[in-house]
Amino acid sequence: MTTEQTRELLRQLPSVEEVLNTPTMQALQPLLPHSIFADCARASIDEQRHAILEGELRTPDPQVIANNACTRVLSHLRPSLRRAINASGVIVHTNLGRSPLADEAVNAVVEVAKGYSTLEYSTTTLSRGSRHDHVEQLICSLTGAEAAIAVNNNAAAVMMVLNEFAAGHEAIVSRGELVEIGGSFRIPDIMALSNAAMVEVGTTNKTHLADYQAAITDDTAMLLKVHPSNYRLIGFTESVPLNDLRILADSVNEARSQSSSDPLPPFVYEDQGSGSLLRLDCFGAYAEPTVAESIKGGVDLVSFSGDKLLGGPQAGIIAGRADLIDRLKKNPLARALRLDKMTLAALETTLRLYLNPTQALTQIPTLRMLSEDVAIVEARAQALAHQLKAIEGLGCAIEVVAEIARSGGGALPMCDIPTFAVRLGFPEGEAQACERFLVSESSVPVIGRIKQDAVLLDARTLRDEELDEVAAALRAYATKRQTLSA
Ligand SMILES: *Cc1c(COP(=O)(O)O)cnc(C)c1O
Repeated sequence: MTTEQTRELLRQLPSVEEVLNTPTMQALQPLLPHSIFADCARASIDEQRHAILEGELRTPDPQVIANNACTRVLSHLRPSLRRAINASGVIVHTNLGRSPLADEAVNAVVEVAKGYSTLEYSTTTLSRGSRHDHVEQLICSLTGAEAAIAVNNNAAAVMMVLNEFAAGHEAIVSRGELVEIGGSFRIPDIMALSNAAMVEVGTTNKTHLADYQAAITDDTAMLLKVHPSNYRLIGFTESVPLNDLRILADSVNEARSQSSSDPLPPFVYEDQGSGSLLRLDCFGAYAEPTVAESIKGGVDLVSFSGDKLLGGPQAGIIAGRADLIDRLKKNPLARALRLDKMTLAALETTLRLYLNPTQALTQIPTLRMLSEDVAIVEARAQALAHQLKAIEGLGCAIEVVAEIARSGGGALPMCDIPTFAVRLGFPEGEAQACERFLVSESSVPVIGRIKQDAVLLDARTLRDEELDEVAAALRAYATKRQTLSA
């Protein structure tokens, strides 16, 4: 490869004008501003220039460059955030937006989003109201808490609680609970960010009440308990139950109230992570403890997510003692982390569905998918398999197989949820190509999972209405496959 050859190839690159004037680009011109076309043409030429400098020896083809520019232009027309079909079998899938909302919640969002609302307006006093009021009573009724506040998400809730009550003081936490939740949410980092001094006690596998006891100083502001979420210690392990932390905090408070100085009242705060408003008895011993159980167990405050097991919108809910919640409402972070009207509408409606637990189980999609009878899931898988078997040229063996679905969202990590999936068994190496097509090239991305040389489409996270779309995506794949091999 001589530099002269390279220079010659570079000279043959079309100009931006030439690319813009190709019929393919011309045809799209009315759709978007000229500047976007120019940018896309330039990016496409740059890409080819880069390829030549890297050793590409073919003469640049203006049509190929124009087609590439068109693809870039078209990607501007397609929304980046769009609906996807979850055939992964992971119910609370963080990358896929966690919990789908109940129809009623969606309707409530549309209603308040389209027009004005009573977001901060009291229809009783005809004056300014509080946005907190829409959900506080409901949370209290559902959990037995005295008071509650909802903020942007549970990470925000944890930060706010630590900032308000432990900034400049000590918070004691077990080494077995210093977890990373994902998305770089690590308990020690949040502690540092909130200016709380973290006091670690115990060991990775075992922490005893005496460890907490020994770590208490006059500066202890909090005993923090963190749900281990997506990991479990099994075997030789021990952690301190909430009740015991309550008794310890009470005895410290008792001793401090007799001292002459003005000591801090240490209190018990639990980051429950997923949180659950209903005990999911279908999971037996694996069922997550509910928020009400934490309140009953003696926490002063508990926080949890709105879009994990709860099945609502992204939010973080803090519930517990009224005097503590009052202080949180006055913390400047409450303003920075507050919920907007759409989220509040979705949250209020979702919480309202819980007032009737049977209704919650069928109308909140996350709960429905978690608890759906496996026979119904199997029937859905069979219906999908039936549709897929009718597609010609798919090039794979189609069967319905028993599989294991996961809750996701850091909940029920040890729980194998029985499910059925449609298994598309491909010749070696082709499953990945099919998976890539379903995600990148289908009009609605379909996210399944790969197991050995097969694509699995899990029927537990699919809705009946989505089966036709999955079949359409695979029909498109079969067509592409045949075109390529022709
Ligand atoms: C998921 C989780 C969080 C973060 O909650 P988000 O609502 O995602 O912000 C915090 N703590 C625990 C234990 C969790 O499981």
